[in-house]
Amino acid sequence: MQLTYKFRLRDTADSELRRQSRAVNFVWNYCNDVQQQAVKRGRKWLSWHDLQKLTAGSSKELDLHAHTIQQVCQKYDISRRTHKKARLKWRGKKSLGWVPFNKGHVAYRNGSFWFRGREYKAWVSRELQEGQTFGAGSFNQDALGRWYINLPVEVEILESAPSNAVGIDLGLKELAALSTGEKIENPRWYRASEEKLAVAQRAGKKRHAKRIHAKAANQRKDFLHKASTALAKSHDIIVVGDVSSSKLSRTSMAKSVMDAGWYSFKQMLRYKSIRNGGIYVEVSERNTTRTCSSCGAVSGPQGVNGLRIREWTCVDCGAIHDRDRNAAANILRLGLETLTEGACHV
Ligand SMILES: [Zn+2]
Repeated sequence: MQLTYKFRLRDTADSELRRQSRAVNFVWNYCNDVQQQAVKRGRKWLSWHDLQKLTAGSSKELDLHAHTIQQVCQKYDISRRTHKKARLKWRGKKSLGWVPFNKGHVAYRNGSFWFRGREYKAWVSRELQEGQTFGAGSFNQDALGRWYINLPVEVEILESAPSNAVGIDLGLKELAALSTGEKIENPRWYRASEEKLAVAQRAGKKRHAKRIHAKAANQRKDFLHKASTALAKSHDIIVVGDVSSSKLSRTSMAKSVMDAGWYSFKQMLRYKSIRNGGIYVEVSERNTTRTCSSCGAVSGPQGVNGLRIREWTCVDCGAIHDRDRNAAANILRLGLETLTEGACHV
């Protein structure tokens, strides 16, 4: 399967990347112009082959890789057709830098990336092999002007995985409660940076807020990667509830942050589980907090989602439940049922 690795580049290549991304914008805006002229004159839409013919031979002049120009034409054509517009947004100073490259054109040697004979130093946070090949990817800039390289990498799927299943209840206070009784706590800095962000936003310090947000997002991603890797390594069946923040009343901002976190955590669990030869299932969370995992009665108190009730006793069988662990156990049961019924998973 293919995964895209993202690495932060060191500042040494900044000016060269800015130059290339200006040239990329030039190609993009050129495509935009000729497309509009063609439409005005009542000619048919230009395909990306037409655009490619029109831009052919400009590689030397623009000092861009010929395939980069082709990729821009192709991306332009795809987004023009998906947006069904005669004209797309002009790419200018405010557009985040973007330099696409084709399959096999970026190399990894001596701990650096190489493209068109130039070295791009990076913080390489994952294991890469010397001489490893990559798919078609891109250099990308973030809102703070920092450059990253996005590299599609082919990853082998492992044959065997340890045999056991786990149900996961995603939460707010903890990242997750497991059917095994373990909990994955959110790190302490998470709350702290949320508060710092709110303060900066209230004070109208936009750039400062962006910086805090970017840092927190990176830390959070790193944390989610570690947690999902550990889970996928030790379980061959992973069942997760289809959590959404609507069950938790908070501000819309906090909600969207939570949603984004849960979404990427589920994505990570999914691909890591598949990569390890495991199975990933998502099930409906409906009633999982109120159903007794010992006897199956829907005996939990109403509003058990309310954050206050952490523990309850089943009136039918007398079992005492930790709310989240019980929910995780129900999620696991539902997932295993789906699998034995032969419903499609993943
Ligand atoms: Zn019960």
